[in-house]
This record gives sequence, structure tokens and C-alpha cells, in this order.
Amino acid sequence: MKILAISDQVEERLYSSAVKTIFSDVELLIGCGDLPYEYLEYLLSVLNIPLVYVPGNHDPLHSEHEPDSRVEGGFNIDLKTLKIKGLLLAGLGGSIRYRSDGVNQYGQNEMVLRSLMLVFPLIWNRVRYGRALDLLVTHSPPAGIHDDSDPAHRGLKAINLIMKVFKPRYVLHGHTYFYQRNLTTPHTQVGPTTVINIFPYHLIEL
Ligand SMILES: [Zn+2]
Repeated sequence: MKILAISDQVEERLYSSAVKTIFSDVELLIGCGDLPYEYLEYLLSVLNIPLVYVPGNHDPLHSEHEPDSRVEGGFNIDLKTLKIKGLLLAGLGGSIRYRSDGVNQYGQNEMVLRSLMLVFPLIWNRVRYGRALDLLVTHSPPAGIHDDSDPAHRGLKAINLIMKVFKPRYVLHGHTYFYQRNLTTPHTQVGPTTVINIFPYHLIEL
């Protein structure tokens, strides 16, 4: 099964009718945040496949009453779990707080508290399916992995905790731009988990 994950930057190659030919065999779209929602809506309608996403720190605060705050036809899985095409997914949107008035930004402890919402559904997955989680979809990287030392790009410790306890096969994140320093997409193996920086897009085959 092929998954197209996207993050942070609109790619002209994808934002064209050619995407239907290039990615004709992709079965699931995953958005890791900080992308215009029109771009996500374009991709899900042209490829005609499900889209799951989490908001980034440059995205609007999700509201059920405000259509512009969400992707039409997509599933926002921030603080949610989802079983789709046989895969167990969970989402954790947002980034470290670096502006007092920023939306989708959280302190380290605040994010650990938010992530508690995932604990019971993930334990239930483990009981029911024998594993808790295949893909953890985040905007921020984990602390110390693909992150940076500046206030806006420090990774979130809550993600490391989920990795430690629930051992997902993959963590897919955005938020940190590596293209200036490293042309290859960073992959880091942490125990059974492969952490992938999706920026700006990445094809995953499972
Ligand atoms: Zn970001």
C-alpha cells in the first residue's frame, strides 16, 4: 500500500493535473500540517482517496462551526485515533509554543496533557488488534530528533513518550525544514519506530 505524505510547502509537481498520473497507485493521503487547505482539498479530490491530517502552527484553530478552519472531505486526526485501510493511525497536531498569541502551539507539559486523550484508544487498539499504533501523524518532530535549538523548532517530548509506550512503526512529521542543509529526507530509527521528516512530501510503501 502506498501513502503520499505532504507537509509545510506546496509542491508545484503535486499541485497540477499530472499528480493523477504520477501518484495513480497511492491509496492514502496524509497531511502533516502548515499547508493551505485548498491544496489538500485539491489533492484529495483529484486523487479521489481519503485524506487524514493534523494542523500545524500556521493553520487555523479547528472549529466545527467554521468551514474555513478545516479541510472539506478530510479527517482531522489531532488527538484522535483512526483505523483506515487496515492501518492504525493517531494524530498530534501543533508545535511547541513560541508566541503567546499563536494558535496550535503548546508548552511541553501542555502537550503531554493533550496527548493523554490518545492513551485509552491506543490501549484498546493493543487489546483488540495486538498492536497499539502503526502511524503517528504529527506536525512537530519529537524532542531531539530532526528538531532545532531555536524557540520555534524544538521538538515535543509528548511524541517521544508516545513512541516509548506505544511503539508506532512510523512517526511522520513536518515543521522542520532540512532542505537547506540536507537534500535527502531525514529518516531516523528509534527502536522499532522510523521517524520521517515529510517536508515537503514523501512516498511511503507499507
Ligand atoms: Zn510548523
